[in-house]
Amino acid sequence: MTRPGLSRRALIAGAGAAVVVGWNTTTRAWADQPGQAVEQLPALDGTMTLQGTGLEHFSSDFGHIVTQSPRAVLRPASVRDIQQTVAFARRHRIPVAVNGQSGDAAVVGQAGLESHSSYGQANPRGGIAIDARGFNRVLALRPGEAVVEAGATWAQLTDAALAQGWAPPCLTDYLHLSIGGTLSVGGIGGAVQRHGLQTDTVRELDVVTGTGELVTASRERNRDLFEAVLAGGGQVGIIVRATLALEPVRERSTVFTLAYDDLDTYLADQQKVLADGRFDLQVGNVVRSADGQRWRYTAELVAHHDTGHPVDREALLAGLRPVAGETTVTEESWREYAFRVDGFAGYLRAAGFWDLPKPWLSLFLPASKTATFMREAAEVLSAADLGAGLLLFYPYARARVNTPLAVLPDEAVGWHFDLLAFPAPGADIPAMLQRNRRLYERAVALGGKRYLIGAIPDMTTGDWQHHYAQLWDRVQRAKRQYDPAGILTPGQNIHAS
Ligand SMILES: Cc1cc2nc3c(=O)[nH]c(=O)nc-3n(C[C@H](O)[C@H](O)[C@H](O)COP(=O)(O)OP(=O)(O)OC[C@H]3O[C@@H](n4cnc5c(N)ncnc54)[C@H](O)[C@@H]3O)c2cc1C
Repeated sequence: MTRPGLSRRALIAGAGAAVVVGWNTTTRAWADQPGQAVEQLPALDGTMTLQGTGLEHFSSDFGHIVTQSPRAVLRPASVRDIQQTVAFARRHRIPVAVNGQSGDAAVVGQAGLESHSSYGQANPRGGIAIDARGFNRVLALRPGEAVVEAGATWAQLTDAALAQGWAPPCLTDYLHLSIGGTLSVGGIGGAVQRHGLQTDTVRELDVVTGTGELVTASRERNRDLFEAVLAGGGQVGIIVRATLALEPVRERSTVFTLAYDDLDTYLADQQKVLADGRFDLQVGNVVRSADGQRWRYTAELVAHHDTGHPVDREALLAGLRPVAGETTVTEESWREYAFRVDGFAGYLRAAGFWDLPKPWLSLFLPASKTATFMREAAEVLSAADLGAGLLLFYPYARARVNTPLAVLPDEAVGWHFDLLAFPAPGADIPAMLQRNRRLYERAVALGGKRYLIGAIPDMTTGDWQHHYAQLWDRVQRAKRQYDPAGILTPGQNIHAS
């Protein structure tokens, strides 16, 4: 084998480090000398970082619990780069995972971009991390439809679409997440009660499978792959491009915030609103009451409308039973509401919480068992478990979700339980992880399911089999078919390596 030519932009070695010439198939390590067993890296349009600080940046994620340095970081400049790298990795059984590298670059700079996974889901476990910044453009906006590269964020797409009077129908609470990242897990937000998950708004995908092949997939074409990719945890392919639905945007958002001290009243009111669909968005959360003595439930209900056409506030609140005198109603622009979490994220960063370990727990509960689970969880959780964070807690209608691999409890109505913990410095993270495990097991015993995000330790093959239930065979078959070497996205821990 010969040394790669200078036009090959494959190598960025750390200062003073030996230049890597290829992969030594015997020692299974980068080689700095050509030799019989050394295979050249593929020629790239982008760059492959093999040593130095560039790797450290990809060793952890938002959760700051799982840390392992990748062996290389690909910053692709073309889809071909991703294909070549995956094909190379397949030949040599090197794991590969995309790292969303998202965030609000205007606030945190390029160095502050990260994977927003909590438990190493994007970590290639000593393999090759693919930097999603290498494919992050909004490619086209048409009436009712956008075409994006998967590394673009929902914030980018929202602003680009807004400029033309359109918006994605389902947004996550925080918009600075990569589109490929949320489509790989599901993507839930307050519009789930109307439009389902973000994965339900996808019309077409371009996917590089685990063999390096580029395949276009949709409901009409290569449906099997389409359905294996959406909410598939990156197990069968790398999403490089997506065509997504857009809807006409309204100008204003009127936000109703209702407080509840009583769990049953909260559950009943949220489900009433879910059933009659009177609001455009419906979320809610649980925090400690101001006196620290009990849990307080807050419903956040939103109606969109145009300027000069205010909503009938009284009619929208009719029949609901929050704590009297504590309901607030505010009106803001559609964009202000969509980007509402930016301010809170800024506070968490300034106060030093953002960069600490965060053992998030994200579950879906069947409505019939939600009160039972929540009462038990309320006993287990303390203010210290939330830290500066909160517990999202709101219902969804099962029928709105049409993504086969977005596994949800088998009831018409379910509840999203999402412990967004920002613990204080010095918190006992191992104990919190064990608490997550216990809450997960209790949820499962009640018919609940986990979301692919979050930090649940010790997931076994048996856990995953139970999770996917009748879909398990299909999940395994798709893995064998589209990722025969089993190299894609090991950090999800779904398939035993
Ligand atoms: C502050 C904050 C708010 C959040 N709010 C919400 C919310 O409202 N709703 C919600 O549903 N989630 C929410 N999340 C969770 C979010 O969906 C996950 O963190 C998700 O992992 C997306 O993050 P990411 O874009 O950084 O992707 P990553 O975390 O880097 O990737 C997620 C997974 O998908 C894989 N992957 C990434 N890109 C691709 C691709 N192009 N092709 C194939 N596989 C890929 C990765 O390897 C990894 O396994 C939030 C997270 C944070 C930190």
